[in-house]
Amino acid sequence: MKRNFVEPENDEDNKDEKPKGDLRRKQLNFGFSYMIFGLIGIWLFQQFILSPLMIRNMEIPYSEFKNKIAAGEIIEVTISEDQITGLMKNTDDSSADAKDVAFSTIPVPNGDPTLVEELEAAGVNYSNSKPASAMGNFLLAYLFPLLLIGAVWYFAYKKMAKGGMGGLGGSMMGVGKSKANEVKPEEIGVTYEDVGGADEAIEELTEIIQFLKSPEQFSGLGGRIPKGVLLVGPPGTGKTLLAKATAGEASVSFFETSGSEFVEMFVGVGAARVRDLFEQARKTAPAIIFIDEIDAIGQSRGGTMRFGGNDEREQTLNQLLTEIDGFSTEVGKPVIIMAATNRPEILDPALLRAGRFDRQVTVSAPDLVGRQQILKIHSKAVKLAPDFDLERAARMTPGFTGADLANVINEAALLAARRNAESVTMHDFEAAIERVIAGPEKKSRIMNEQERTAVAYHESGHALIAALVPHADPVAKVSIVPRGRGALGYTMQMPLEDRYLLTSEELKDRIAVMLGGRAAEKVVFNEISTGASDDIKRATDLARRMVMEFGMSEKLGTVRYASEQYQFLDMGNSGSAASPETLKLIDEEVQLLIAEQYQRAQNLLQENRQALERLTKKLLETETVDGAAVKQALEGLKIKEPLAA
Ligand code: ADP
Ligand code: ZN
Repeated sequence: MKRNFVEPENDEDNKDEKPKGDLRRKQLNFGFSYMIFGLIGIWLFQQFILSPLMIRNMEIPYSEFKNKIAAGEIIEVTISEDQITGLMKNTDDSSADAKDVAFSTIPVPNGDPTLVEELEAAGVNYSNSKPASAMGNFLLAYLFPLLLIGAVWYFAYKKMAKGGMGGLGGSMMGVGKSKANEVKPEEIGVTYEDVGGADEAIEELTEIIQFLKSPEQFSGLGGRIPKGVLLVGPPGTGKTLLAKATAGEASVSFFETSGSEFVEMFVGVGAARVRDLFEQARKTAPAIIFIDEIDAIGQSRGGTMRFGGNDEREQTLNQLLTEIDGFSTEVGKPVIIMAATNRPEILDPALLRAGRFDRQVTVSAPDLVGRQQILKIHSKAVKLAPDFDLERAARMTPGFTGADLANVINEAALLAARRNAESVTMHDFEAAIERVIAGPEKKSRIMNEQERTAVAYHESGHALIAALVPHADPVAKVSIVPRGRGALGYTMQMPLEDRYLLTSEELKDRIAVMLGGRAAEKVVFNEISTGASDDIKRATDLARRMVMEFGMSEKLGTVRYASEQYQFLDMGNSGSAASPETLKLIDEEVQLLIAEQYQRAQNLLQENRQALERLTKKLLETETVDGAAVKQALEGLKIKEPLAA
């Protein structure tokens, strides 16, 4: 919603969080190395334990066996249908200890009728053996190796839990070692100069710098020694950058790691890593430890079950708490721990207690001025055309985070380079925005004419509704060039200013614009397609928030029904603080809101059907049109909403 793009239309859910994937992969790797270990174990077992037991007896020809009976060298035999095993005297003179030797031989087919007589004559103990039992074979072939894997596994993780030093654990790539990457003060290379649009956060962090620089003075003034700072904000807003810049400003060592590094399959590994990390940091103090995605470890206990299980996370969390509590007294060697999360409300309350992460600094997506600062910082390295307007560029990128902006600048520079241009123009920048939002153009993607037409009507629908309702942001661009990630087209609106307060009328207009695409399909074809699923999702989300969070439903009144977790909720209604009857009412109100706006969009399009045709035709011709074309399509035709609507 923040971005004010009606599109892209996404078939797939591409909100996949990178860290989760990372975590999963790491755990797989980890499990994988154990598999290999287990397999090697089985192999060793077969080579050195099983084989000597079974096969390593000397195999001799049957004739030799008969000779040895005659020579009296056979001591005892066990006869089975397809094998004769036994003990014979050692006749090899070179070997010092003339012990008896196990041997085996294959009997001749159809048996040897005189064998028993010969054995008796030679006074050999003989016995018959039952064929090996199926059960016995099974035990030997499967159960043993399994037990062995289990044993290796158990052994390995015991080792790791102790810190992974030496022995088995050590050779296994030091799993108990923290993977944090230490940056020496002189190598940090970023300061607050490199962070844009985060003045408030920076202000809150200056105290930390003061403390790291002169802890004695700080405690002398009676200030409570800070320990943990929680940076709260969405991904890409510069939390890591801020932490690093803080280390840079204070010129102390910086340890960067991520919560997911501590989540492993085996109980104790995470805890060992935490211990190792703090040990390292204490050695190099003063230092800042930064843990990204702290929620991976700090999620409140009894939360949802994860891959690694709860036991492991609990141990890791406890270790973290112990370490944080532990480093209080060393005034001469201050260590500050900073952590980032987007979901502070799911953190275990123990983490947020006084003396732990008791400072929270909010880092949000930058506003217009902030975006302009960030663009300025990141465009230092590229050559901008003389007429490049940073303010306009900032205006075009509402809702973009610092990381997005850095990305856009980078893309723009690449596009300019591809043109062999000397400098980056506004035009490059615009194209880069599109690429970053919707993925690179896929000209090769073939859409049949019917599909193209449907998409053109759909996008025209969004654009016209945006132009027709009183409170929508003006349309900047409409396109039906298919893009990656399932986007078939998009309509881009450009707000004139950042908005923080929206009235219910404005929100309703937004819902109408979101539903404009589907309304157009319905009006034109009297048929609807799957292309609007993302629109519908976003419209529903907004309507739900209007009812539950903003108290905009008359029936339900000005009551907040959403629990604190609601805005991060992706599991249905479980986060609501409402009774089942109220929930039903909420659903009805949401449905009503959506239905009203859907009908309104349809009516508007029906009344402006000619404009819809005009714009669609133009879109099919040129694939991309700007805001002026939308106005033109309506020129002389615009039919205003009846006042009643
Ligand atoms: P987070 O840790 O919040 O996910 P990062 O600090 O990793 O975000 O941001 C990634 C990159 O985006 C940074 O390295 C920087 O280049 C850019 N960036 C993000 N926020 C800002 C900002 N406020 N000012 C300048 N650059 C930023
Ligand atoms: Zn749409």
